[in-house]
Amino acid sequence: MIDFRSDTVTRPSEEMRRLMADAQVGDDVYGDDPSVNRLEEYAADLAGFEAALFTSSGTQANLLALMSHCQRGDEYLCGQQAHNYRFEGGGAAVLGSIQPQPVENNPDGTLPLDKLAAQIKPDDIHFAQTRLLSLENTIGGKVLPQEYLAQAQRFAFDHGLKIHLDGARVFNAAVKQQLPLSAIAQHFDSLTICLSKGLGAPVGSLLVGDEALINKARRWRKMLGGGMRQAGILAAAGHYALEHNVERLAEDHANALHLASELSQLEELEVDMAQVQTNMVFARLKGQDPRALQHHLAQRGIIISAANTLRLVTHLDVDRADMDKLVTETKAFFASNR
Ligand SMILES: *Cc1c(COP(=O)(O)O)cnc(C)c1O
Repeated sequence: MIDFRSDTVTRPSEEMRRLMADAQVGDDVYGDDPSVNRLEEYAADLAGFEAALFTSSGTQANLLALMSHCQRGDEYLCGQQAHNYRFEGGGAAVLGSIQPQPVENNPDGTLPLDKLAAQIKPDDIHFAQTRLLSLENTIGGKVLPQEYLAQAQRFAFDHGLKIHLDGARVFNAAVKQQLPLSAIAQHFDSLTICLSKGLGAPVGSLLVGDEALINKARRWRKMLGGGMRQAGILAAAGHYALEHNVERLAEDHANALHLASELSQLEELEVDMAQVQTNMVFARLKGQDPRALQHHLAQRGIIISAANTLRLVTHLDVDRADMDKLVTETKAFFASNR
């Protein structure tokens, strides 16, 4: 099956599986797993930070960041579209007693600094205390401009806030701009990285920060049931992903661009080419039934999510021929439904 639903669907390669099988392991709760320790050091170095923490998921890594920067009754600023506001079950509120304060994202994914400033609460017993600004890069496949990151960092500093990056797909942003991870990470006090999306590891994310933050996060991770034992088997996959699957993200970006430009030729679809910056294509159906298209494609070995605006994600398990197959079959569906 050719799966366009997400870059989370990637399967570990033969070589990755071999490294997992051969990984040296120990009890990571005792700090004894050499493969986990090696991964954490490697990731911290790539980001230019002191420390990193291997986590079970991106959701967990974001939650640990929020709980380590903020205390009960504090508040974080984020976008209405932020994954750690919308798609993480309200975990910061439920488990951290931390209140989100979202503001509307600009079309390019940035958050307007004047709107953020207006939401920062004065020091008054009526209000939650605003502690943190959380950004996301890439967001909806879009890359936040480096200049904006510098402005946001200065803004946070000037207002006494910490600044966190949900960098689930930060390597897509880095590769797109031909920058090292550290060039993006330098603008933040912490960042999360998903190993299990376009990088192709089966499980795992990282939280990166300074020693003090990571020590706090390690404590919360244990409390939340995320202390894994011989996790080196998973860390080995993540390490392989960081060493082998970063530069190749450029292929996913080229495939997405190819797919988008082909689909934009079809009059039944509207594709916003400005939004195609990394590995995501958004195509709006002008009246055709998304479920009927989904069904048609599924019978031909292609999986998509059904929605009026299709989100098609490229990744290391789909190649150029798969793009063309999707285009051909989508055309055939429209032709039979005119
Ligand atoms: C996927 C994703 C996460 C969460 O990662 P999981 O490993 O699925 O929990 C967080 N933020 C963003 C932007 C994501 O895309």
